[in-house]
Amino acid sequence: MPANPMFWQKEVETLERPALEALQLQRLQETLRRVERVPFYRGKFLAAGFKPEELKSVDGLRRLPFTTAADLRENYPDGLLAVPREEVLRLHTSSGTTGKPKALFFSRRDVDNAAELLARAFCMTGVTRRDVFQNMMSYGLFTGGLMMHYGAEKIGCMVIPSGPGPSERQLLLMQDFGTTVIHVTPSYAFYFADFLEKKGVDPHKDLSLRKAFVGAEPYTQETCGKIEAALGLDVYNSYGLTEMNGPGVAFECEHKSGLHVWEDNFVLEIINPATGDPVKEGETGELVLTSINREAMPLLRYRTRDLTSLIPGACACGRTHRRIRRITGRSDDMFIVRGVNIFPQQIERVLMAMPQIGRNYLIQLDGLDDLTVKVELSPPAFDGQVGHLEELQNQVAEKLRAELWVRPKVDLVAAGSLPVTEGKAKRVIDKRSL
Ligand code: ADP
Ligand code: ZN
Repeated sequence: MPANPMFWQKEVETLERPALEALQLQRLQETLRRVERVPFYRGKFLAAGFKPEELKSVDGLRRLPFTTAADLRENYPDGLLAVPREEVLRLHTSSGTTGKPKALFFSRRDVDNAAELLARAFCMTGVTRRDVFQNMMSYGLFTGGLMMHYGAEKIGCMVIPSGPGPSERQLLLMQDFGTTVIHVTPSYAFYFADFLEKKGVDPHKDLSLRKAFVGAEPYTQETCGKIEAALGLDVYNSYGLTEMNGPGVAFECEHKSGLHVWEDNFVLEIINPATGDPVKEGETGELVLTSINREAMPLLRYRTRDLTSLIPGACACGRTHRRIRRITGRSDDMFIVRGVNIFPQQIERVLMAMPQIGRNYLIQLDGLDDLTVKVELSPPAFDGQVGHLEELQNQVAEKLRAELWVRPKVDLVAAGSLPVTEGKAKRVIDKRSL
């Protein structure tokens, strides 16, 4: 056990910046040597006139082009593998939305290291071996199951690999084994909270839940607050992507003021998605990551499509690894209605701030260029009178217009009537005939 229970690897987590940057450079150089064996990268180095041995600073990486999700698909299944096949211990894939999946390989050291990074995350949120961790994410090719499981085992807490699945069974496990920590998507957290309400179970009194790791999809601060209130626990934002190990790339510490990115493992850049240039510190842009501690399949300057910004300054926890703000969406989530750029999270922020509004919503684009927001009512806050319903509908539409500059049609529907998934929620349905 580490000396300070809030730190798993205190020395590296609190490494002074110059030492941390020296470590980054050294690992980046090793990574470049490793990927030189991959024809895809060798070709890129040649085209850019880039000689790995001449790299003198981490910033020198910027001379290389980005790697994109399309590159991964074009090199499917194993074109980006950087080690002999027999060194691969595990395969994960990222579902994506269309076509072939992205295949990601892990060596033994990669799997172990990913678990170490997660152990750091568990530890900094105050999880100890006395905790009972119920992993309600899907096991299998999705990293949210297995990777998180391995991280929890490093800490030594008791792991219940429940996976997603019947809420009845989840509840039974929680009651019988005293679950204290769960791992869920924000949409499933709400679904489960509704289920508990229907069962007459009050999580504040009847369960031992203390913390939830919530991630896999973007959610707002307002949603976070609603989950905390509904389930009676502390929510910690957990960010990751299969391309970079899965969960554990960035995580909130006990101060919950941004997510620390493990910079001894990832070089982070935030770029203007349109130009590819770095944004000014603190400005929002697309997160670009380079894995510098991976054997089987490191990726250089990978465009995550996730939008965030850097938080300047040091964190009160003492960790020196920089923090990013909660992901506000993906650059490819944006949709355009009547010439206006809209992110689903803008809509979510407005809805979640209204007490009369429930927890699930769906954005529908249809007709020529019509925007409809379907949203569930919050049962206790609504008296069922039709006149009041229309008034509320108008109120929601007006608040959305003020935020978006487009007035949507608002459909208020009964609580529990919109579809829910245990995996990632699908929030936008585009059926436009443009
Ligand atoms: P897929 O690509 O199939 O969705 P991944 O599990 O690799 O599978 O998904 C990673 C993506 O999920 C990230 O790039 C990001 O868009 C989203 N994501 C993961 N964690 C968070 C989080 N905490 N906040 C916002 N988005 C997240
Ligand atoms: Zn911190």
